[in-house]
Amino acid sequence: MNEKLVLSNEGVFPVVKDLHGNELSELPKTGLPIAGTIQGEGKLAGVPSLFIRLSSCNLRCIWTMDNGEFCRCDTTYASFHPDKTTELMPAEVVTWVKHNIGTIRHVVITGGEPLLQKRPLAQLCQQLKTELNLHLTLETNGTLYDEEVAKWVDLFSISPKLSNSTPTPEKLAFYKLTESGPTKFHNEKRRNTNVLQAYINLCNETNKDLQLKYVVGKKSDAIEIESDFLTHLKNYKKDDILVMPLGASRQELALSAPLVMELAITNGWRYSPRVHIEMFGSKKGV
Ligand code: SF4
Repeated sequence: MNEKLVLSNEGVFPVVKDLHGNELSELPKTGLPIAGTIQGEGKLAGVPSLFIRLSSCNLRCIWTMDNGEFCRCDTTYASFHPDKTTELMPAEVVTWVKHNIGTIRHVVITGGEPLLQKRPLAQLCQQLKTELNLHLTLETNGTLYDEEVAKWVDLFSISPKLSNSTPTPEKLAFYKLTESGPTKFHNEKRRNTNVLQAYINLCNETNKDLQLKYVVGKKSDAIEIESDFLTHLKNYKKDDILVMPLGASRQELALSAPLVMELAITNGWRYSPRVHIEMFGSKKGV
């Protein structure tokens, strides 16, 4: 107990007041004179939300686009290079949220991979729920599950990673990275159907909700979603399967969006937009 959370340098965002309730001199990265933004992806796209970004990830995603170019994780500052961080007690994060929440009712906890910090995360979720009664979305890569955290979450936004996300030697060389730690084990860790089944079972037994949100950049990704994931899962709802275009910039999104829409229609899955990239490009903190 009493463990601190390690937040990425954005911490709680976008905000107009700091942790102590003092007005910030600069506008939030949205350019608007208000705290909050809209959720850009998934079932709740468009819903006003505050975000909390935790640092570090157990995966290292680098994809190959349909045109052969590489595209990596859009939050490398929280995953590949989690160097600028702030350490806070869960209660301090709750206070920071209180100063900025206004009329917003949705908080999204994201990363990196938030469940790497499961103990202080469970405490944060419990306090956000019991003190502020907010709707909580947990964004996770679907490799980890924790009962204590899951108890407090309303929507599990799970983004399981396909084989195209594997950081091959060629991709690592392109980004001047060496194979070590999470890079080495990415491929064996990225798919955990027992964990995914645990989320599905929990949502079927409770009024919690989930989405399996696949980042898609190639036609063959749809075959893999079916063969490597869905055929191994039971009792999921087709409505909970989402496909989202690969891309960390407007140009990359424009390249994969038509193919992803085609795959969504052909397979009866939901298409998820990435509104924040369409509106703000690859800007942080929006
Ligand atoms: S799992 Fe998510 S945060 Fe981690 S490296 Fe992949 S895209 Fe980035």
